[in-house]
Parts: sequence; structure tokens; C-alpha cells
Amino acid sequence: RATVVHDVDTALLRSWPVPMPAVEGDKEVRGHVLVLGGSCEMPGAIILAATAALRAGAGKLTIATGQSVAQLVALAMPEARVIGLLEQASAGLRIDAVASLDPLADRVDAVLIGPGMQDEPATAELVHALLPRLGDSRVAVVLDACAMGALLHPPAGWPLDTPWRFARPVIVTPHAGEMAHLTGIAKDEITAGPDPKALDAAQAWNAVVALKGARTVIATPDGTLYQHEGGNVGLAISGSGDVLAGIIAGLAARGAPLDQAACWGVALHARAGERLAERLGTLGYLAREISQEIPALLEQVA
Ligand code: AMP
Ligand code: MG
Repeated sequence: RATVVHDVDTALLRSWPVPMPAVEGDKEVRGHVLVLGGSCEMPGAIILAATAALRAGAGKLTIATGQSVAQLVALAMPEARVIGLLEQASAGLRIDAVASLDPLADRVDAVLIGPGMQDEPATAELVHALLPRLGDSRVAVVLDACAMGALLHPPAGWPLDTPWRFARPVIVTPHAGEMAHLTGIAKDEITAGPDPKALDAAQAWNAVVALKGARTVIATPDGTLYQHEGGNVGLAISGSGDVLAGIIAGLAARGAPLDQAACWGVALHARAGERLAERLGTLGYLAREISQEIPALLEQVA
């Protein structure tokens, strides 16, 4: 049982430089992020996440979202290529939508699934269909929100009494409520002792688990545990987690290993909140304002 908890501080982050491509490096070199998500009621979540991925320095962005909102998303996010996917009546995406992403599989460097998705079983099915199509584990995968339901809804044939385990490591970013939902452990118990819960989950799921809160712990499948305390209560707002997931995906697309992308992302997100609080006040800054702080912070820390 790990008892050592590593602080995510500037010294740790500097020991893990985010790959900085040569000045002449073109956008392909700095990583291509695919953000898959959105729904009629929450098309904005995908825009928040996608913006964050670019602010974290990724070079290229593709958004895949439901056909019914794709054009609106494209107008709101002129930097993105936007793919409209088939939808089902329940507002989830249709499972055959996955095939239309095949041409991207060997061209993307990181895939974020989940922002703004609302139909958990449908999203889980999509995740299980997509992951094997991404081929080798070179492509970093980040699952947030509904997409983490892949853990609760394994593909047909998976033994009922065995927790789902990803074949390739992924990053999941639950808050305590989502962690309770995913593990079946009471939320109070998780907030009272998050460290062992995150470690157990990371090992069982083969995932880097960033268990979010005022103190966020990041556990890796090999049993390493990191902690980060920072930011402020102003970060507890709608869309804040979508931004964090986007930052992590952006860093992973640039080549940061999963554990490093998660720790870097958590720290940058928190520091962005601190900068916004200094200028605007602790409460009332917007999730969409978090991302714009990231480029300067990255230069400062890296
Ligand atoms: P979500 O609940 O998915 O929107 O994510 C909320 C984000 O805000 C997570 O990254 C949390 O770690 C962060 N957060 C929430 N409350 C606080 C707090 N009181 N202090 C610092 N960070 C927080
Ligand atoms: Mg969230």
C-alpha cells in the first residue's frame, strides 16, 4: 500500500517538461486532439473542452458531436474541424457513428470523450466501440463525465462480477460524486479518504484517476499517488471540469505521458482559477475564462 504522496508543485512539474516542439515545428508536431461529446442541451461543454485543449498548446483540433448541433458548434469554434455524427432519439449518439471516425484513428494524438454527453449507457457503448479502433496506445484517451460510465457498462460478454479494466491505460477525471457512482462507495466515504479509493480504482481500472476536489489526488495504475491543493471555490462552477479535461487532452496530444498530463492539467487549471480570482474576485468568473490564463502559466511554469 503506497504511503508516499507526491506533491504536484513547481519542482515536480519542472522535472517533467511538457514537450516543447522546435520553433519551426508545424501544427501536426504539436498534436491533434479529437474531442467527442456534446448534446442538444449541452453543446457548450465541448466548446469549453476544445478551447482548453488549444490553449494548452495542441496544434490541431477536431470536434465530433451530434449532427443536430454540429453546425452551431462549428460557428462557435472556428478553429475546429467539426464532424456531425448520427444521433438517436434519446439524444445519445448512434453507435454506428463511430465508424465515421475511423479515418481519424491514426491521425489523432489524444481523444477526449464525454463533455456534454448525457446518455450514459449510449456513451459507454460508444467508448467501448471507439477504443479498439484507436489501435495502439500511442493515442492518449481522456474520459470525463458520462464517458466514464464505460466502467459501469462493459461490453457484452464481460463477466458480471468483474470490474471493467481498460485494455490500454486511459485518464479518468471524476469528482467525488462521480467516483461514488462509479465505485458504489458512498460519497462521504470517498471525501473522507480519497487516497486509497483513487489508488484502488487506478489499479482495478488500468486508468490514471484524477479524483477532483479542493484537494485533487491523481493515482496511477502502477500505484503512484500525487496530490494537488490549490485553486479556489470559484472553480466549482458549471463547465470547470470540461476545461480541465480539455487541458489534460491538449497536453497529452503534445506528448506528455498520461500521469504527467493529468498532474500538469490539474495544476494549470487551479492556478488559472487563482489568477482569475485576483483580477475578478473569487466567485463569478466563468469556466470559459479559465482557458485564456493557460498559455502564460505554461510559459511561467515550464
Ligand atoms: P467538475 O465538478 O467536473 O465541474 O470539476 C470541477 C473542477 O473544479 C475540478 O477540477 C475541481 O478540482 C475544481 N474545484 C472544485 N471546487 C474547488 C475548490 N473549492 N477549490 C479548488 N478547486 C475546486
Ligand atoms: Mg464534470
